[in-house]
Amino acid sequence: MTRPPERSQAIVLKVSEHGESDKIVTCYCPTIGKLTGIAKGAKRSKKRFVNKLEIFSLLEIHFTPGDRSTLVRIDQADLLSAFPNLRSHYHRYNNASLLCELILHWTTENDGDENIFRLLIWALQWLNQGEPLTRTVILFQIKLFDLLGYRPHLAGCINCNCHDHHGAPYRFSTSRGGLVCRRCHQETVAAHSPISLNTAKLLHKAQTMPHNKISRLQFSPSSTREAMALLKRYNSDLLQREIISWRALS
Ligand SMILES: [Zn+2]
Repeated sequence: MTRPPERSQAIVLKVSEHGESDKIVTCYCPTIGKLTGIAKGAKRSKKRFVNKLEIFSLLEIHFTPGDRSTLVRIDQADLLSAFPNLRSHYHRYNNASLLCELILHWTTENDGDENIFRLLIWALQWLNQGEPLTRTVILFQIKLFDLLGYRPHLAGCINCNCHDHHGAPYRFSTSRGGLVCRRCHQETVAAHSPISLNTAKLLHKAQTMPHNKISRLQFSPSSTREAMALLKRYNSDLLQREIISWRALS
């Protein structure tokens, strides 16, 4: 027996071709979480799907859940926002791809989070407008870790709680999930790139600031570099995999 059709808002994270005429689409939905569906005839049907089942698109999808598998059948899609500039600008595309890949790996089926959905829309809008791209990507990840329950400890040393160990830079320990001062870090952590006090303070501010004020934070080129290196390593260590989209950004 077929289950009744459902509908949901969805952001497209990934699209692949399937056979002659179908597409497999993975999206993130506010209450359902990650959802993968097959859109039959998507490559032919001008009316139902054309220009809609594209990466980054915000859609309202109509779908029929499968009886046994998690794969749903996508029956129709209405375009709510296409974020067109993400597809026509090389750097915006690469940065937006990273956000989608992170959501793809960090989320699961049947476990939606409205705040993660809203965070992703917020970041895609900023990238679409061409706001400082790397800063948007940094702030997105800082807020995402909060929502996932992996907030890194960035207010001083996680071990001794010092806030400025004679001005010496901190290191970031992914296994301990926070900054470690020079007095406390061991050789394994010492091998990682240093985090200046300034960068640590900026990232900590981003964690505590409300969403609508966060874009006031200004990152210098060196803080941007340090923050991106820290977040890249924290993501891949926690996920235990390489995030492919970082390659295009480095
Ligand atoms: Zn310490």
